[in-house]
Amino acid sequence: MIPRVTATVDLGCIQHNLQVVRGMAPRSRVMAAVKADAYGHGAVPVARALEAAGVDALAVACLEEAMELRQAHVVTPIALLEGVISGEEAAQAVYERLQIVVHDHWQLALLEALPDSAQLSLWFKLDSGMHRLGFPLADVPKLVEVLRRHPNWKLEGWMTHLACADEPENDFTPLQIARFDAALQGIPGPRSIANSAGIIAWPSARRDWVRPGLALYGCSPLPARSAADLDLRPAMALDSRLIAVREFAAGERVGYGGAYVCPERMPIGVVAVGYADGIHRAFANGTPMVVAGCRVPLAGRVSMDMITVDLRAVPQAAVGDPVRLWGPGLAAEEVAAYAGTLAYELFCGLTQRVHYRHLPGSQAASGLRSARGGY
Ligand SMILES: *Cc1c(COP(=O)(O)O)cnc(C)c1O
Repeated sequence: MIPRVTATVDLGCIQHNLQVVRGMAPRSRVMAAVKADAYGHGAVPVARALEAAGVDALAVACLEEAMELRQAHVVTPIALLEGVISGEEAAQAVYERLQIVVHDHWQLALLEALPDSAQLSLWFKLDSGMHRLGFPLADVPKLVEVLRRHPNWKLEGWMTHLACADEPENDFTPLQIARFDAALQGIPGPRSIANSAGIIAWPSARRDWVRPGLALYGCSPLPARSAADLDLRPAMALDSRLIAVREFAAGERVGYGGAYVCPERMPIGVVAVGYADGIHRAFANGTPMVVAGCRVPLAGRVSMDMITVDLRAVPQAAVGDPVRLWGPGLAAEEVAAYAGTLAYELFCGLTQRVHYRHLPGSQAASGLRSARGGY
């Protein structure tokens, strides 16, 4: 059986991108974000590839995601970015030796209710201005006091998250960094500030730990820089095929609502992929895709199982020809803009109907673990 839609994930590219990130932040340990099924790339194979390449830790959103990795025998430290939401989850997280990110007093209460002997490993998340999760900076002395009461608890570090790191001109990032530093002045423990955009655009955000996600999958988080510019290799190619090629006269309308009008006699291709696969209906006329090595534009509305494409630039295109929706040669960042979104959402939006194929990376640990400084 030939799959209609295939996401080919090259794990070697993810390993390469990890080394690129290490090159940018050579004194930092790397906590790789593999939440949301590794941004739709397949959490278990991606985690294994990162582990083989010597990543220092992995980050997921919640306990279920961490359990999937533990059940696949991933042994690298795993942080729960949103922490735990019940006493039961807290106990299980401790049992699985997960690092728990604690962002609020109600979560702290769950941990304090555990037996005194619990070997807890935690991060404190501070709100330096994003105003999503995190303790107010003024709570730092209270948190230090909590640690004093629990000599069994291991503090992995202090983290914060940047709201505008992808805007290299935005003064808010240095302000967040300065507030974070001031609140923690003289207080021991590793620090972590930067996601992918922070790592690339803000050298002062590269602290003891960096937390890349998007960059590992080979996308640029900065509108003004291409992935190729940064030596990042797109790890995913999303491909389908033509299942019909037909000619229509000038003035004929294509698809639901007749949203595309043929400006002249022209070939229209039908590609076997739609919003039920993760190609958002928001994609506008003109969204690029690649047929026979040539960029051609979407023509008409995205439907559940199909899209239609203007094939005037490739008159030789025929049924069965492969169609690339994004990947090498067509950056997902660029495609995403046609739906008013980001590569993050395209990747995470792929559905169960997409067939995954993982190309193996290198199996051996590279020995390129980060210099363990800064403690
Ligand atoms: C997802 C996430 C990251 C990674 O972000 P990217 O923009 O994909 O690099 C880093 N830190 C936190 C807290 C996150 O939730």
